[in-house]
Amino acid sequence: MTFPISEASPLRFPGPPPARADVVVLGGGVIGVMTAWHLAERGLRVVLCEKGRIAGEQSSRNWGWVRQQGRDLAELPIMMESLRLWKALAQEMGEGLGFRQEGVLYAARTEAEMAAHQAWLDAAAGHGLDTRMLTAGEVAGLIPGHGAPWVGAMFTPSDARAEPWQAVPLLAEGAVARGAVIVEDCAVRLLDVAAGRVAGVVTEQGRIACDQVVVAGGAWSSLFLRAHGVAIPQLSVLATVARTVPLPQVFAGNAVDDRLAFRRRADGGYTIAPGAAHDFFIGPDAFRNFAAYLPLLKQDFRSTRFRPMAPRHYPDGWGTPRRWAGDEVSPFERIRVLNPAPNPRVLAQIRADFGRVLPGLGAPAIADAWAGMIDTMPDVVPVIDRAPQLPGLVIATGMCGHGFGIGPGMGRVIAALVAGEAPGHDLTRFRLSRFTDGSKLVVGTGL
Ligand SMILES: Cc1cc2nc3c(=O)[nH]c(=O)nc-3n(C[C@H](O)[C@H](O)[C@H](O)COP(=O)(O)OP(=O)(O)OC[C@H]3O[C@@H](n4cnc5c(N)ncnc54)[C@H](O)[C@@H]3O)c2cc1C
Repeated sequence: MTFPISEASPLRFPGPPPARADVVVLGGGVIGVMTAWHLAERGLRVVLCEKGRIAGEQSSRNWGWVRQQGRDLAELPIMMESLRLWKALAQEMGEGLGFRQEGVLYAARTEAEMAAHQAWLDAAAGHGLDTRMLTAGEVAGLIPGHGAPWVGAMFTPSDARAEPWQAVPLLAEGAVARGAVIVEDCAVRLLDVAAGRVAGVVTEQGRIACDQVVVAGGAWSSLFLRAHGVAIPQLSVLATVARTVPLPQVFAGNAVDDRLAFRRRADGGYTIAPGAAHDFFIGPDAFRNFAAYLPLLKQDFRSTRFRPMAPRHYPDGWGTPRRWAGDEVSPFERIRVLNPAPNPRVLAQIRADFGRVLPGLGAPAIADAWAGMIDTMPDVVPVIDRAPQLPGLVIATGMCGHGFGIGPGMGRVIAALVAGEAPGHDLTRFRLSRFTDGSKLVVGTGL
């Protein structure tokens, strides 16, 4: 498979879709794919509609970290389940997932960062993780010859990684093997609503009658939902990533500090990215949701580069239509795969930072660079809930930059919600009503 996945990539799951299903899943990222997988396992007739290519957007462009460490405590039990599922998936599907348990390390440059890591570790103490604090000497033992002024780190050896652009298409094949129907080049334009509840979807390839729809549309979810009167304060940021040419292994796991993230890849290179920096395109939703994001902005202002407008047809573009009819081309067909240009300044910075952190390897030759649009919520946790105003509609979006690792577990939870079963975890923190019921939003631990 060529990377990045784009609309030029071959179609692997052609239509047409069937006219009837029990559940339609909108979006073929890791969340939609794993939801479809678990719904099909329950014997439900499920059709997953993807406007472009499976995993074309965030789910192939991410760093590939499968991380318990640093999680919001409401996500942590789901993530721990997800890690168990990843291990089972790796046994079933083999090397193709690129799954390796080599650990996640958060390196600290200051004692204040160490204290913040320690605070998370204390809060997570009851969960039985293998996370521990490391001294500067222990970090040097794990990453020999590093050149960073690290005073210590937090480390979880059981944390893992996988190769996302291989893993998610493989998982999609696994979902099909279990009975799910997947159709690419199949944008869902609108919900079909009858007698006040979901009766189906209108896609560019025709109508599919169904009882329930799961919206797992990543960065497009807010645009889709708003057209049906459901508002979520979702925004997106552009994150730049690069892959180095093959280089000697210095550390087998995933490491990050406030400037640089790097992880070993199956192809012998490293995936590298800034620790926090991202670009933000200002659009109508930015104004609409400004107040909700103020607490997060105060925490994270310096890592954001503001840009006055998104490229044409982006989900929060100034000219992007907010309303359309079922028989006209929708915004979802205008961009089949969000494939933003990486920020060249960020690329130069991470290349130099890599050379400083790992002086034995030096500033690396870059084999590939790309970017992804990360969908986020003001409290950095997703929305996993039924929409009370529209029976049959389930929202599963806003993974806030950490949805890849949790995908298998989250898919199981969403499928349970759809099937009317107990989800097995407390989903209160992920409720839709938290934005409107007067609750004070508590900003979670992101990354
Ligand atoms: C640079 C970067 C680094 C990251 N690093 C990590 C990491 O290391 N670990 C981690 O856990 N997470 C990471 N993430 C986050 C992770 O990739 C996402 O949280 C996760 O992939 C989200 O999955 P999703 O299925 O919700 O969305 P997506 O993968 O974005 O999929 C949504 C899909 O819905 C489709 N769609 C939208 N609207 C429609 C419509 N109307 N009809 C049909 N289809 C539609 C889109 O085409 C898209 O394919 C990172 C993300 C990025 C961008």
